[in-house]
Amino acid sequence: MNQEFELKSVIRSVPDFPKPGIMFRDITPLLANHEAFRETIRRFTEHFKDSKITKIMAAEARGFIFAAPLALELNASFIPVRKPNKLPFDTQAFHYELEYGTDTLEMHIDAVEEGDRVLLIDDLLATGGTIQACAKLAEQAGAVVAGCGFLIELDFLNGRRHLEGYDICSLINYG
Ligand code: 5GP
Repeated sequence: MNQEFELKSVIRSVPDFPKPGIMFRDITPLLANHEAFRETIRRFTEHFKDSKITKIMAAEARGFIFAAPLALELNASFIPVRKPNKLPFDTQAFHYELEYGTDTLEMHIDAVEEGDRVLLIDDLLATGGTIQACAKLAEQAGAVVAGCGFLIELDFLNGRRHLEGYDICSLINYG
């Protein structure tokens, strides 16, 4: 596998999931193909190798899949960000708005500290709400957001508007 390989060719588009009218981008065929999975991590590594990343934060669950191997490649810590009441130790939380209602993400209070350069990773950027919440959590703790990496970006939802000033790396785009 090389630079020319189309990662998009191993993404499966599933219509009407989880609701009618939604085209879900299923990453499991990519995960099932170890060459494509390795190439994904290689491309993220190439983009962020000089960004002096100290910690990689990812929200459950699919973000974990890419953040963990990338943390090893970049010699960085992996920080899981979770839904409320999943983490065992003291946590700090960030509450954010959804279309209907609100949601909360948490991390351990000692996970990130001042001086950290944090990379935020997720499988997919849609409206940007999830990754923005991760960015706020990192910044609340005094860290710098040194980058955001997504396997897939849905351009038409313009989630980027919430990430101005950050270095963004998306490997696959849907217009
Ligand atoms: P956002 O907060 O940017 O609106 O949504 C991004 C989150 O929703 C990501 O954590 C991602 O896992 C999930 N997500 C939304 N739509 C899709 C999709 O079509 N495919 C996948 N794999 N994840 C999605």
